Amino acid sequence: MDKQPNNMNKRKPARLDSTQSGRQTDPARKSLGRVMTTSTGRSVSRGAAMRAQRQAVSDANRVANQYLDAAAKHPAAAGDRPPRPVLSPTDSQSPGQGVGAGTRRRANLIDDSPRLKIIGLGGMDGGGSKNMIVVEYQNDAIVIDCGNDLGVDLPGINYGIADTSYLDQIKNKLRGFVITHGHLDHMGGLPHILPKYNVPVYGGRFTIGRVEEIFENFGLPMPDGFHLQTVIMNETTHERLKLGEFYIELVRVTHSIPGSTMVVVDTPVGRLINTGDFRLDPNPLDHERTDLARLEELAKEGVHVLLSESTTTETIGRTLSESQIEKSFVDIMDHAPGRIFVAIFSTNVNRVQMIVNAAVHHGKKIALDGRSMISTMEMAVRNGFMKIPKGTFVPIASVPNMKDEQVVIVCTGGQGEPNSALVRMSMGDHKHVSLKEQDTVILSSRAIPYTGNDALIRTMVDELLKKGVHVHRHETYELDGGGPLHVSGHGGIEEYRDIIKLIKPKFFIPIYGDYTAKKYHIDIALGEGIPRANTANVENGQVIAFTRDKMELSGEVPHGTILVDQTGAVVSTVVVKDRVLLAEEGVVAVVLTIDKKTGALLTSPDIISRGFIYMKENEELMNAFRSELRRAVAQRFKRVDLDRFKAELKDYVTHFLYEQTQRSPIVIPVVNVIGGRTEKVNNDLHKPGLNGERPKTPEEIALEQQRRFAQMRQRLLNQDARVD
Ligand SMILES: [Zn+2]
Repeated sequence: MDKQPNNMNKRKPARLDSTQSGRQTDPARKSLGRVMTTSTGRSVSRGAAMRAQRQAVSDANRVANQYLDAAAKHPAAAGDRPPRPVLSPTDSQSPGQGVGAGTRRRANLIDDSPRLKIIGLGGMDGGGSKNMIVVEYQNDAIVIDCGNDLGVDLPGINYGIADTSYLDQIKNKLRGFVITHGHLDHMGGLPHILPKYNVPVYGGRFTIGRVEEIFENFGLPMPDGFHLQTVIMNETTHERLKLGEFYIELVRVTHSIPGSTMVVVDTPVGRLINTGDFRLDPNPLDHERTDLARLEELAKEGVHVLLSESTTTETIGRTLSESQIEKSFVDIMDHAPGRIFVAIFSTNVNRVQMIVNAAVHHGKKIALDGRSMISTMEMAVRNGFMKIPKGTFVPIASVPNMKDEQVVIVCTGGQGEPNSALVRMSMGDHKHVSLKEQDTVILSSRAIPYTGNDALIRTMVDELLKKGVHVHRHETYELDGGGPLHVSGHGGIEEYRDIIKLIKPKFFIPIYGDYTAKKYHIDIALGEGIPRANTANVENGQVIAFTRDKMELSGEVPHGTILVDQTGAVVSTVVVKDRVLLAEEGVVAVVLTIDKKTGALLTSPDIISRGFIYMKENEELMNAFRSELRRAVAQRFKRVDLDRFKAELKDYVTHFLYEQTQRSPIVIPVVNVIGGRTEKVNNDLHKPGLNGERPKTPEEIALEQQRRFAQMRQRLLNQDARVD
């Protein structure tokens, strides 16, 4: 599914009449704002061209504005102001820390209001992405989860993370981050966010293993003075730790990654449970069932607030047990004629273990492929979450030398990710493996919603089938022959209901989902007797304040999205907006070199374009464009000041190009005025030849300027500057 609005390419039809808006009273504009008729016979009003340009800009804004940082979202500082703000003398906010400086208030506020505050800095929209919940009571705060958003579909952007301007405000209260499980949408923001606060990260053994893994693999260096502090908590013994005024505990749940937990926080106002992601698998592959007994005990003591994830609250019934897909894999291995490839999420360690077991049972060896696959498997083996009989794993490089029926390859690429192992194989450019007709490929996953991956998967499957490979997909398992190949890590409605029934919270807040998913979750809660007044469908940044018997919405704190590129560096939304506009419309630069005295063009207008139209093939247009530029210079240059001239030129070019092409590229006018300054210098000094040099003639200056522009163009446009 593509997240971009569909109207990006729709253009309002150009107005063909000459009726102009009030701006026409400006005589300067009037002279350029006439209706132009060209050889193509089309005529377009200047207003239509301007509107088209505005439309292009607003389309780009709309796409990029889904992801604004807090400063852009909150021009004036917003927030749930505690009653007595006092600045601590020790509080010095280092400049450049985080973004959204304009909205930030000073940290270390003294808050003596006896209210428990819960704020989703992420996770309250977009299908539960960049999940992040702040739990705050007076002068203590913890953060549950710190994910990233991999569903951001903008040019050059890898993922989004939550804007933590609010954490900057309360950083002296922060006691730690508690992570429910090791999926990136719950901990992928840590390498960006944690170093700013330098507090410990708490979680189960596998989760902490994942945290260490992503810090090890993070591309950018950590700031000086930061070192990762982690605390492994034992959920089996119900270990409790004190963090400020809070006691925290983890409770084991089943999901699609080992070591998933709920987080229990005992606060002075009451007990809070954040479910993390869960399903209630009665028969998980690792036999580690949800600790329902512990939840029951906690419920008996009373649970004030339940924050429950909402990923699949529109799915009827219950999710099949993970163990039910085991037979499907065994069946395929029984019958596959050649090599077997399984594409699977690297973090679904229990399923990989199941495949390993089946392979061993069939006398096959396993090669792992894909960086994340190898990294996660190493971590899982190191921490005792996988048991691999000696000699089972073989390096991928040895696959070509093995007998086909011996080979199982477990790899990344189940989402059709470009550059993943399976996609490279499907394209025939994998270093060690080329696919052949007897091969069998199993896609043991489904497209993640909100990522637009469906199309990528489809393209990959096309390529696989073209190669004559047997492809087994979960979606088509009845057609491909065999049983189901994937089950969700999330529950159906009945499982969400079970948790509410079991925990019996006083207040119920759905989290980790978009508005719609949370709405259905609230319906389930209402069905279980939770009063409507005790639930709320909140958005990112909204503050919910709880006392022992009341819950109320209490303002909003700065929140938003920070965009991150492939290198891990933060990218400004302004840059992204330009990229969207460039991607949609292209860019045209016009370079004019004009004699100041005479107002004449000294060289032919230089026109450079990228992503617009291929100008070499549009000679007629280019000739018309150049003569329009000459005319614009002749008519206007001597009459208005330079800034005004540039602005008019930009409008003029925009109009002309729109009229000719119905497109609104970004127009960059460069006006290079020769003559005035040199004369002035010479006049001031009353002697020509400053520093013993002969003063340059206007022609020489023009030539030099042209050389400089040529160089600048090379730099800007990457060597192969196309001058039309
Ligand atoms: Zn998850």
